[in-house]
Amino acid sequence: MTAPRCVECGAEAVLATGREAYPHRPDLAGKIMWKCQMCADSHCGCHEGSQRPLGRPAGPKVREARTLLHKRMLDPLWQTADQIYEGGFENELARTIVRGKARSRVYAFLANRLSMTKEECHTGSFDLDQCRAAWRALQGISYAEIREWAKVREKAAKENGDT
Ligand SMILES: [Zn+2]
Repeated sequence: MTAPRCVECGAEAVLATGREAYPHRPDLAGKIMWKCQMCADSHCGCHEGSQRPLGRPAGPKVREARTLLHKRMLDPLWQTADQIYEGGFENELARTIVRGKARSRVYAFLANRLSMTKEECHTGSFDLDQCRAAWRALQGISYAEIREWAKVREKAAKENGDT
């Protein structure tokens, strides 16, 4: 397992339990996490039931910025995507599919704007500058605009036989 690097200092993080790493944080006690040995309170979680890191360890300021980016920008964009479809949906499944597609388009748009690959474009890996750049890239953009952008790209990909 490759250790993730702390976004604050670039050092390799170490695996720790929440109890060892943050004895004063009972909410983290049962968790396995990656923790920076250099930076106070710089950590990230793991994928459920594994030691695979969820992004890169970061301190409170960066974690807060990531959370805001999600709650105020990214999530509202794709979660409200179904509102642009007039006439509603046949059922919940249809709505879920539309939202899933919207989510994927929103991330593709953001990756494009930040000159990242889709694999690199995970907020859990972002440092503060990347959070700020993502915020600026999405500010004032509606899902309808992202959808138009995505459709042009999807059409071009189809014409190139690249699906
Ligand atoms: Zn660090």
